[in-house]
Amino acid sequence: MLKMMLAFFRDLWRYRFQVRKQDAWIRKFAKKKNYALNPNWMIHTNLEIWLSEMEETFGRRYCPCFEPSGDAQLDNKMLCPCKFMDDEIAEYGTCHCTLFGSPTLSKDGWKQSNQRLTSEYRIPLNLKDGILDARGQPLDSRRGLPVPDAMHQLKSALNNYTDKQLTLIVERQQEALNLQKIAAYRGFGESHRKKGDHYEVVITLDGSTPKGSSSSCGS
Ligand code: SF4
Repeated sequence: MLKMMLAFFRDLWRYRFQVRKQDAWIRKFAKKKNYALNPNWMIHTNLEIWLSEMEETFGRRYCPCFEPSGDAQLDNKMLCPCKFMDDEIAEYGTCHCTLFGSPTLSKDGWKQSNQRLTSEYRIPLNLKDGILDARGQPLDSRRGLPVPDAMHQLKSALNNYTDKQLTLIVERQQEALNLQKIAAYRGFGESHRKKGDHYEVVITLDGSTPKGSSSSCGS
């Protein structure tokens, strides 16, 4: 818990200017649409930090809950505020990430939505001997993308990871390319290759070049 709090305040300081900008458009947008914002300051602020991180990593303000899919049409729909939010707010009171919600949502309703989100992302990882198999997660019914995706599984793994190198197994080329961008943004070393029906991505946390790996996603 202490580790999480420290990481939160470190990220808040790092993205303080971007978070201020995110907060300005979010409040303006919510007012225009007559939506409420997540009343939990920490969740709300974390989402603004993650939006800033998505924008810096991928160059566009993608939803903080889903990495880019590689499908241009779907990716455009996933820019925040996304095209799915009205539908989701009508169904369970908040958008998927719980940033925006119905103005009539009760305190309990927000709590339930926050719990739904947490339970979707805090799953036991398939991590053994330095290999994280990120495949096989359930798909979000609207976007058709895994929850949690490889990006979120990597983040979770790194919370308690002490080795220098981590290998991820992912299903799609786009996931490998996303991990490559995340590694570049965070100053990690990275290499990836297609291996049979999946992609293997090797990340070194000290920024060194992974040994014996190519950086090609070709088949
Ligand atoms: S689910 Fe919410 S936070 Fe995510 S893109 Fe849609 S509106 Fe933004």
